[in-house]
Amino acid sequence: MKIAWIGVGVMGESLVNHLINNDHELFVYNRTKSKCDNVVKNGAKLLEKIEDAPLMADMIFTMVGYPKDVKEVYLGENGLIKNAKDSQIFVDMTTSSPELAKEIQLEFNKKGAHTFDIPVTGGDIGAKNGTLTIFVGGNKETFENKVRNIVATFSKTIEYFGENGKGQYAKLGNQIAIATTMISLAESYKFAKETGLDVETFLNTISTGSAGSFSMTSYGPRILKEDFKPGFFVHHFIKDMKLALDECEKVNIKLPGLELAYKMYNELTDEIKYNYGTQAIVKCYDK
Ligand code: NAP
Repeated sequence: MKIAWIGVGVMGESLVNHLINNDHELFVYNRTKSKCDNVVKNGAKLLEKIEDAPLMADMIFTMVGYPKDVKEVYLGENGLIKNAKDSQIFVDMTTSSPELAKEIQLEFNKKGAHTFDIPVTGGDIGAKNGTLTIFVGGNKETFENKVRNIVATFSKTIEYFGENGKGQYAKLGNQIAIATTMISLAESYKFAKETGLDVETFLNTISTGSAGSFSMTSYGPRILKEDFKPGFFVHHFIKDMKLALDECEKVNIKLPGLELAYKMYNELTDEIKYNYGTQAIVKCYDK
């Protein structure tokens, strides 16, 4: 199939490679063009403009940064909407706003096109290994008939949650669960270090018991090596927690664990927020 992909970052690069390896023809676009170099070497063709994507491909994927990026890419003056065609399929994998997913669907429906919000979890490792978990929002029949087999290329779990926006609600719920597991990882690490335990043995041991979590298995070893490279950028996690807090306000609930994680990550320096991965939460305990 001819597939266009907008947003070739940490996640996008791996997912594009999976699609190329499955014999799809890929057309790619990224704001910083050099980030497409590796996938172009692997056979993807570079698009000059976002608006060209619907002219070249049958299915268009997006995985950019923030809701404002999603809005610009879909609904901007030179966005995907400009050349979207009847029956064409647009799939947003960015973690973004549920309301925006609904707005995009309404606008693209006017052209007869289908849109889906299918954010993911599983991190950079899940993207590399093709083992992501995917939350689906959008028309079920079209998803099952046209999209499922394509995203199955890089996922192990694909769950349908309902109409447009529901994928994003499920993803925000997922981020709420992660918020406190990151705090628990950092606090058990700090305790082990200060009490003189062999921290590596300690984390390896507890990760096999009741305290184990994806956060611990995936980020514990990086903390031990002081590897703070972004698998998942701090600034993106802050964005997700803010989206979740906004939804909490709308349904009139308070989640103190989420509020605490949001506060702690916000207290990190800008240098850390924009360059480090979420395992940098341990830096909150340096003082
Ligand atoms: P990333 O490395 O920052 O990738 C996003 C890419 O999109 C960047 O290369 C960026 O270009 C590009 N982009 C942003 N706005 C654009 C625009 N308006 N037009 C064209 N390209 C644009 O981030 P990521 O880690 O891949 O994450 C992408 C999304 O997935 C985020 O919403 C994140 O929250 C979510 N997510 C990430 C993970 C993870 O573990 N990394 C897991 C699940 C979900 P520039 O290079 O020019 O900035």
